Amino acid sequence: MATTDIQIQILQTGTITVRPSLYTQPHTRSPLLRLLHILTDRQWRSPSLPVYTFLITHPTEGRILFDTGMSPSCNGPGYFAWWFPAIKFMSRLSITPDQSIGTQLLERGIGPGDLTAVVLSHLHHDHSGGLSDVAGAPVLMSKEHWEAFQSPTAATLSGAAPNHWPRDFAPDFLQATGGPVGPFEKSYPVTADGRVVAVETPGHMRGHVSLVVFGDEATTYFLTGDATYDLESLDAEGTDGANDDPVGAVETVRKIKQLARERPLVVLPSHDLGSRQRLEEKIAYKPSNTGF
Ligand SMILES: [Zn+2]
Repeated sequence: MATTDIQIQILQTGTITVRPSLYTQPHTRSPLLRLLHILTDRQWRSPSLPVYTFLITHPTEGRILFDTGMSPSCNGPGYFAWWFPAIKFMSRLSITPDQSIGTQLLERGIGPGDLTAVVLSHLHHDHSGGLSDVAGAPVLMSKEHWEAFQSPTAATLSGAAPNHWPRDFAPDFLQATGGPVGPFEKSYPVTADGRVVAVETPGHMRGHVSLVVFGDEATTYFLTGDATYDLESLDAEGTDGANDDPVGAVETVRKIKQLARERPLVVLPSHDLGSRQRLEEKIAYKPSNTGF
């Protein structure tokens, strides 16, 4: 039976310029040494990184938003905790008010009540900064990630801005009731028909998830969140500088590569300038054998 197409749109919420050491470091380097490298880095990486969110329109189950992007308030005084200036040191943030996720959704006639679900890959400020714009919509994330970020102090130290989450923010948890997806042992259905599921992609952060969207015909989309920053890093099995489990991060990127060997996979990282073209032209990623 032919399936009706699922649409995916990229909505960009500003850009981030990062230290090269935040972008990538060897996976053999410990989290503490990684942080030291970032804090002593004086360079800025060019080009700046886009901050993408993804609006998925399912033919019968409505609209799902993957991540909420950065907040236009992020450069305002007091947005980040004064006692933890590291985010300002390691990144430069740029976003205009009309790039907020709330404004972009409203431009399309979509309010929070029109969203079936908001799925968060993780709570870093550039993925959860628009949460207050979609307050009222069901928010889904992994229980493991929520528990790691539940304390405001721990969340702040990990790169979130918990003071700007909606009042009494209480996400729902993804449930592992789906079967395996390639090398991912289990999946967390987001839609009842199983065409949108989350899979565990830890490494960048505990409990981080990516989203798999089974499109029409033979195309499967893999929305990585921050499991990788771009296809070059993915192919080289590089790890980003800020992750808290570099060895786990390598295991995760190997699984994504394995899935791409098993089926045509359009890989869409949140900070990859190539994601737009890959989405529009349905360009599947063909892994090299690096690391194997
Ligand atoms: Zn992140």
